[in-house]
Amino acid sequence: MAKILTTSTDLVEGTLAAKTTLSSPENVACEPTWQLSLKSAIRSGRRLLERLDIRDWPIGFESAEADFPVFAPLEFVSKMQPNCSTDPLLLQVMALPLESDGPNGLFDPVGDSQAEIVPGLLQKYMGRALLITTGACAIHCRYCFRRHFPYSQAPVGMQGWAKAIESIRQDNSLQEVILSGGDPLSVSDLQLLQLIEQINQIPHIKRIRIHTRFPVVIPSRICDELLNWVERSKAAIYFVLHFNHPHEIDSKVELALRRLFRAGAILLNQSVLLKGVNDSVGCLSELCLRLVDNRVLPYYLHQLDPVVGAMHFQVSDFMAKQIVNELRRRLPGYALPRLVREIAGQPHKTPIAD
Ligand SMILES: *Cc1c(COP(=O)(O)O)cnc(C)c1O
Ligand code: SF4
Repeated sequence: MAKILTTSTDLVEGTLAAKTTLSSPENVACEPTWQLSLKSAIRSGRRLLERLDIRDWPIGFESAEADFPVFAPLEFVSKMQPNCSTDPLLLQVMALPLESDGPNGLFDPVGDSQAEIVPGLLQKYMGRALLITTGACAIHCRYCFRRHFPYSQAPVGMQGWAKAIESIRQDNSLQEVILSGGDPLSVSDLQLLQLIEQINQIPHIKRIRIHTRFPVVIPSRICDELLNWVERSKAAIYFVLHFNHPHEIDSKVELALRRLFRAGAILLNQSVLLKGVNDSVGCLSELCLRLVDNRVLPYYLHQLDPVVGAMHFQVSDFMAKQIVNELRRRLPGYALPRLVREIAGQPHKTPIAD
């Protein structure tokens, strides 16, 4: 997890190079800026609480960090309200003692291990294969269903992906490659460009989908080099973003979304329904409207995967359906996400209908 640190010399040189090539105020310096953001991210619960001046957090949270470290970039932390232990962004990233001794969950709730066809390539659904592009993320979300996935075994880089790409090439029932992880945008644009080019050379692949939280947490990641491979891809590029709360959207995030859209990407969002974070009609309707205003279509609203350490976020199906029914009344049809859950072994995400 979050293991993408180059040496400081690389970063300084990169920064200078990027500065000299700036041509318009909209140009965002690429790797240096976002890699520095990863480097300066907060990596301990204690530091996060200190920074936000929070003194009433339950004691004993450190034991949960040993299992899954706290990791939150400052851009994301700056959107949290100081002195507020119920802040919805804080709750997504801050460890709790409950995680270690709370209600039981599963280690692999969605059956990822059974769906692995070659190392790092999962196929569960018809026509779509999912590449675990990297194990690194831009943030650690406490509710993550892959928090126990054996990422260190997932192969990374063009050589690491070679077997998966070959397997995709051999199977002409596939039309779509999903880059997931971890967060695929943790990988350098040079490597992503090569990967996208290789996938584009497979005639039966018509769509490339990128599941990422970077535009939400480190919007400077949407840099010129990234937009370049997005624009150049012959296969349609879909981004599935991951916003959970309207407070996550600020002007920098809006600019990043605008740039992705202008580069020709289709923008979708998936949220996870999280107790104490976004489990209200007011919060989710505001989120969905802010998203469509920014040309992002709400795609899925996921019921939590019952993963070990995250069960305290669970919202009942009864509540979830009530919330979505009210959202249906308030929102244009295209702004309403589908309420689903992932059940291991099922051929698609399972709708939770009333
Ligand atoms: C969720 C998921 C997909 C994508 O499913 P859609 O319903 O098309 O969004 C594909 N492969 C795997 C392994 C998944 O978990
Ligand atoms: S939810 Fe996504 S961004 Fe968050 S820790 Fe899991 S894989 Fe990473």
